[in-house]
Amino acid sequence: MIPEPAQYLLRFDDLCPTVSAARWQRCRELIEEFRLKPILAIIPDNQDPDLLHSPPDPKFWDQMRALESRGAAVGLHGYHHLCQSRARSLLGLHRHSEFAGISAGKQRLWIHEGLRILRSQGLTPRIWVAPRHGFDRQTLGALRAEGVFLVSDGFARVPFLRGGVTWIPQQLWAPAEKPEGIWTICIHANTVHRSQIAALRTFLADHSAQCTSIQQVLLRFQPTTLTLAERVYASIALRRRKLPHAIRRSRRLARS
Ligand SMILES: [Zn+2]
Repeated sequence: MIPEPAQYLLRFDDLCPTVSAARWQRCRELIEEFRLKPILAIIPDNQDPDLLHSPPDPKFWDQMRALESRGAAVGLHGYHHLCQSRARSLLGLHRHSEFAGISAGKQRLWIHEGLRILRSQGLTPRIWVAPRHGFDRQTLGALRAEGVFLVSDGFARVPFLRGGVTWIPQQLWAPAEKPEGIWTICIHANTVHRSQIAALRTFLADHSAQCTSIQQVLLRFQPTTLTLAERVYASIALRRRKLPHAIRRSRRLARS
């Protein structure tokens, strides 16, 4: 059953103590203003130099705990966020990934360590958010073994079961009105522009009654495997998303 009207989840990616202070502040204002219960995709031990936007915020972990206590869901966003592996992932959106192609043992260790770090900060990580959407079957096995049964990814319009875990799809990177379905809008906390925040505010002012949380989604839906029709829908949506990447890649190749 595809819910009607549409419901929206927000997901904030690349959270770590060096997140851009100014941009993340604007995101937090939005969370507070609309009492959102977003997914917080937190990097347990960031080593990605591209994510060193501000000096480490001593209040970062306090903020995460406060947001979780108000209903946000803590997501495990990789381990070091270093996407140095080049391998095929289940979705295949990007060529480089932190997890896809890494041995099962190492993935399990990284996930175990990541969970341990987040828990040591008093958080309860519940959902996997792969850096660059990069993960494979070994990742799903490691997540199951570590007791994580939720993944934020995929292009269907409803949560579904695949590989022994529940996928809560993430299909949007900006607000968009949809007639039906559950839509996760991913916002990159380090790069979100003022105009994007303004667009989100306008959208949320009109649709705040349709904003939901992971808890509500899980209460309302008993995920099953996707119907053939929804699999086809998801596969077309994924191809549409991949197309601009493929075009950019072939242009680069043509130039080189
Ligand atoms: Zn990321």
